[in-house]
Amino acid sequence: MIEDESHVRELLIDLLEHDNFQILSAANGSDGLHLAEEHLPDLIICDIVMQGLDGYEVLRRLRQSLQTAAIPLIFLTARTERSGFRKAMVMGADDYITKPFTGDELLEAVHARLQKQALMRQAYTIHDYLQPPSPEVLHPGQTSLRSCPNIRESHLYQALEQSEFELYYQPQFAISSGALVGAEALIRWRSPLFGMVSPAAFMALAEETGFIVLLDQWVIQTACAQAKTWQDAGLCPLRVAVNISSLQFNHPHLTERIDQVLVTTGLQPQCLELELTEALLIQDVESTTSRLQELKELDIQIAIDDFGTGYASLGYLQHFPFDILKLDQCFVRDVNINATNAAIATAVIQMAHDLRLIVVAEGVETEAERQFLLQHQCDVIQGYLMSHPLSSADFEQFQRTVSGSSLPI
Ligand code: C2E
Ligand code: MG
Ligand code: MG
Repeated sequence: MIEDESHVRELLIDLLEHDNFQILSAANGSDGLHLAEEHLPDLIICDIVMQGLDGYEVLRRLRQSLQTAAIPLIFLTARTERSGFRKAMVMGADDYITKPFTGDELLEAVHARLQKQALMRQAYTIHDYLQPPSPEVLHPGQTSLRSCPNIRESHLYQALEQSEFELYYQPQFAISSGALVGAEALIRWRSPLFGMVSPAAFMALAEETGFIVLLDQWVIQTACAQAKTWQDAGLCPLRVAVNISSLQFNHPHLTERIDQVLVTTGLQPQCLELELTEALLIQDVESTTSRLQELKELDIQIAIDDFGTGYASLGYLQHFPFDILKLDQCFVRDVNINATNAAIATAVIQMAHDLRLIVVAEGVETEAERQFLLQHQCDVIQGYLMSHPLSSADFEQFQRTVSGSSLPI
């Protein structure tokens, strides 16, 4: 623990010792660095504002040395220092606790961080390499419905560390003009052990274990940075949609984190869309509503994904501040000849428009489906008929060959 105010230091020591932690403490940054190098602690809690070396400088020096680079660090910061914690997270801090804090907040942050660290370590055990690889190799654009039994949690952490995850982008088009208006970012895992793995094969595991929170954070960061890079290269601004899991949606720092990504990447908030599923929204209507309000204040777009597959009550739609409704593929399939799907699709489009939502039809595979959707005033289409999900390089090429439109559509 590195903290220059003695009463805060003592309070922290009391709280943590009470929970059976062993504490090494320093009253300034340079003593703290020496302690860290000498003892390689499991975790560092560090004040930001200190005389001499401040918290940022301590973090910078820790991350520079091979020995101490991987030690997780939690910053202590005053609640008013918003720009400060943003800087801290960008520099590679793992979490932060705002003063004044409760004992529970402190212990929760510490335990969560140590647990993550333990999992990361596990990921490197040689044991993992003894597992036989799965024979399945998937085409990057394709979805596999079977999950892979050999994939374990530690593989996921390792994959993130080794940069094996990749985003593919599936283009979305305004149906009436045919203009490219956006893309959905879809995750792929290029694994040396398992080959190209689709989300269907590892999402359930990622969700069960909580890994999804880290992954979703990576996805948001990567998609926003990529969208900004394309804009800077002179391509037409697109809206990039990312999928958000329930755990991520309920994460206490979600809004701050998204805000932080927008600030650091410089992407306009209107160019980011979050896709949320129905199941996630109805868990707790009150907290969902306030969370959505918070997100809307960032000025980003919010979509309800896979509409109609969950617990769709048309009634709750109007209570939530959505911008976009994604009609699930199960209603799009054969919509031109299947009377039930035609009735549902038509009604959903009508209702969504009454609520001033943009309708995106997912999984459009045939020209006849497209024609039907065009006639029934669907706004945007996405599907294999136009394009499979593409790697970032292929999608960049794709953007150069088609015409875009200016937002918003
Ligand atoms: P989704 O959000 O509903 O994504 C649409 C899925 O439909 C994608 O499958 C896409 O490749 C597929 N698809 C697109 N067009 C067609 C078509 O014309 N025909 C058919 N049969 N399928 C089409 P994918 O990429 O396998 O993703 C599956 C699900 O995994 C996604 O469903 C989404 O819920 C989840 N997912 C994907 N990437 C992420 C991510 O980064 N984070 C989170 N939390 N979830 C993700
Ligand atoms: Mg989606
Ligand atoms: Mg969907």
